[in-house]
Amino acid sequence: MAKSRRDNSGSYDPASDPRRGRSFQDIAGHERLMTLLNRMIEQRRLPHSLLFHGPAQIGKRSLAYALIRRMECLKGDAAPGCDCRACVKLQRGSWFDLIEVRPGETGQQVVKVLDMREAMESAVQLPIEGRHRFLLVHGAERMQKESANAFLKTLEEPPPHLHIILLTSRLYSLLPTIRSRCTEARFNPVDWRALAEWLKARTSCDAALREFLAVLSGGCPGLALELAQDEQLSVKREETLAALKQFGEHGYVRLFQSAYEIERQADGDLAQALQHISAWQRDLLIARAAPEYAEQLLVNRQYKNLLMQSAEGCTREAAIEMLGAALKRYDWAGRMLNVQLALENLLLDIGMASKK
Ligand SMILES: [Zn+2]
Repeated sequence: MAKSRRDNSGSYDPASDPRRGRSFQDIAGHERLMTLLNRMIEQRRLPHSLLFHGPAQIGKRSLAYALIRRMECLKGDAAPGCDCRACVKLQRGSWFDLIEVRPGETGQQVVKVLDMREAMESAVQLPIEGRHRFLLVHGAERMQKESANAFLKTLEEPPPHLHIILLTSRLYSLLPTIRSRCTEARFNPVDWRALAEWLKARTSCDAALREFLAVLSGGCPGLALELAQDEQLSVKREETLAALKQFGEHGYVRLFQSAYEIERQADGDLAQALQHISAWQRDLLIARAAPEYAEQLLVNRQYKNLLMQSAEGCTREAAIEMLGAALKRYDWAGRMLNVQLALENLLLDIGMASKK
């Protein structure tokens, strides 16, 4: 099989993806899952078809690579920075026994049936470099029926040397026939303190910013790291909060202008706008319902006084409803839609809720 066909993502460069080189020790959170996987590897009873599911950027891919290294490392322990041939080649993306399939980046962004068939043909063959073969399917929910059908029989009875790992952030979009044939591993958000500590070795941010990022990311290490690299992050936050404040003070007369300003600072990325808005609404709820924990729990800690003041003029029900309005918009993120309209719609809901 030609090497270029093994990764159909076009722009993806495996050698520059830090996730490929991770060991279990490098992963933020997910300790119970790793203990379980370790035990199963030691007892040689790791399920042949695993389904990793959880929010985007929570660590599924890093853990999948770490698991593969753990099973193939020639020194046995797959320690961080191990220089054995297996670990080095896995990190570079040139380990022949790891076959990866991912959705195309253009068009319908689906896992193509041709790619799936080709991957299956290769996956069932005996390992060449290592002890096993691995088939890693990224964005498994993007498998169309034909791709899934090409895959079902192997998934049901994989040859003894093959381990299949499916990754998805949309469990319920996955075809039930696929899901029922896998052992599921759920990824939960990482505790913010552990995540802030993990960021310490990986960013130059100070302690306050690390904590802010850990909470803002909702316990997703990949997102926290990405946010840490965004130099404009605090400016964007300030602008979003200023637009929200303007809307809060002047009401519907400011609706379009505030939505426009929020959309602009987020570069039209709804998810990014929602991070700041939902963090603020979450803080407001904490300030209202659990003020004694404000110092520990607030994301926007430097606005503690303003939050406490705003919380006084708002009922607990209103705070819950405003947070809910922001959170439910996450389902819209990533879809083709008019972002400004979505934000106007959200502000309308927030405005209505604030009157309760
Ligand atoms: Zn190694």
